[in-house]
Amino acid sequence: MTARILVVDDVPANVKLLEARLVAEYFDVLTAGDGRSALAICENTPVDLILLDIMMPDMDGFEVCAKLKENSRTAHIPVVMVTALDQPSDRVRGLKAGADDFLTKPVNDLQLMSRVKSLVRLKNVSDELRLRAQTAQTIGLQELARADRPDEPGHVLLVDGRASSQERLLRALKPIADVSVISDPQAALFEAAENSFDLAIVNANFEDYDPLRLCSQLRSLERTRFIPILLVTEQGSEEMVVRALELGVTDYIMRPVDPNELVARSLTQIRRKHCNDRLRASVQQTIELAITDDLTGLHNRRYLDSHLKLLINRASARGRPLSICITDIDRFKLVNDTYGHDAGDEVLREFANRVRATVRGADLACRFGGEEFVIVMPDTTPEMAAIVAERLRLMVEGRAFGISQGETILSVTASLGIATLRPEGDTPEALLKRADTALYQAKNNGRNRVVAAAA
Ligand code: GH3
Ligand code: MG
Ligand code: MG
Repeated sequence: MTARILVVDDVPANVKLLEARLVAEYFDVLTAGDGRSALAICENTPVDLILLDIMMPDMDGFEVCAKLKENSRTAHIPVVMVTALDQPSDRVRGLKAGADDFLTKPVNDLQLMSRVKSLVRLKNVSDELRLRAQTAQTIGLQELARADRPDEPGHVLLVDGRASSQERLLRALKPIADVSVISDPQAALFEAAENSFDLAIVNANFEDYDPLRLCSQLRSLERTRFIPILLVTEQGSEEMVVRALELGVTDYIMRPVDPNELVARSLTQIRRKHCNDRLRASVQQTIELAITDDLTGLHNRRYLDSHLKLLINRASARGRPLSICITDIDRFKLVNDTYGHDAGDEVLREFANRVRATVRGADLACRFGGEEFVIVMPDTTPEMAAIVAERLRLMVEGRAFGISQGETILSVTASLGIATLRPEGDTPEALLKRADTALYQAKNNGRNRVVAAAA
């Protein structure tokens, strides 16, 4: 992993020390001796992480952090505040200023590396997601690109083996989250998989259960691997913390738990989870839009081209039949010429609805282009494909198409060509070509009919 880290400290010896350790781990290190030059560097250079000293003349770390988080160009850069061990109030102030993490002086080597690496990893993911959201914005998908929504309440799973501490943590968290409390770590795993939590807080205080087991299970289950985990540990259990962070635990807090720090850290994680969820959803939608035909909502040709290959490979590997059907609306140009292009569009939408209603869930229906549609039918013999195609033909012919809210009633027919995968080997192009030839024949034979390609 490589990343560019900015070290900010007014004492040159401190800068040198951190720089040397980070460079030894192959990080690219920039340095600044005061807040103003740190801000200037972040404005002009991509930085992946900032290690920020608090006590600095002129502009202190809190102010630098707040300024970074106010600026949309730098708000996404994780900030680790370097605090004095005996100043717990600094942590709360730092978190309020938007800091993502803390290191205490003198900086412990393992902690430095674990925290830096875990934050850089996290930043890589959110950078990728932000980039995709930007693309959505560029191509005009405004709804997908919105990332600025007010805080929603978080859903927190608190896993804690002791009633007394459950009560204390619950009291602190109540104002900011809906909390489900559970004492049994194995039951907690099921709970997490079955609900959607924004944060799991695991208190390492079970009678005879290794809390890291739960953390690693949460990380490996498909349904829980994106839930941030906040581990509550004892003072001095640094080794456990390091292992936890390596396992992918997101953050930790030492007992005795300062309620303000707990709230602030929880809020940071909940916000990040919400933000990543939104970005992930927008990525998903972007993908869906890219493979969907605007007019009809069916899959588009691009999707067909890539997916047909997979379906053919799978059918060949399993020795299963696969058939396709190409259908083309008859004399469609006449619809456009007589009733206008918009009416033509309405016919296409209604035609697509009838295609959708005809096919099974496992079939793939696509708009191939213009007024041509392709249906890919896995596990379907030529005989069965002929029945499906005939059913679709009747669905189109059998009921007139109403357009302009039913003002105009049109009779529409379609011609259909079907072809089946050759067991001895076939390509998508050859299969489509055979179906297209059959379609051409259907047109030549008088339209409104189904023709099967010769096997
Ligand atoms: P045939 O029975 O031989 O298929 O005759 P046809 O008129 O359906 O075939 P032709 O290929 O000559 O014309 C297809 C028409 O479909 C021409 C084109 O303008 C129209 N078309 C293609 N895409 C769209 C679309 O998205 N909306 C509308 N309204 N028309 C479209
Ligand atoms: Mg046509
Ligand atoms: Mg055509």
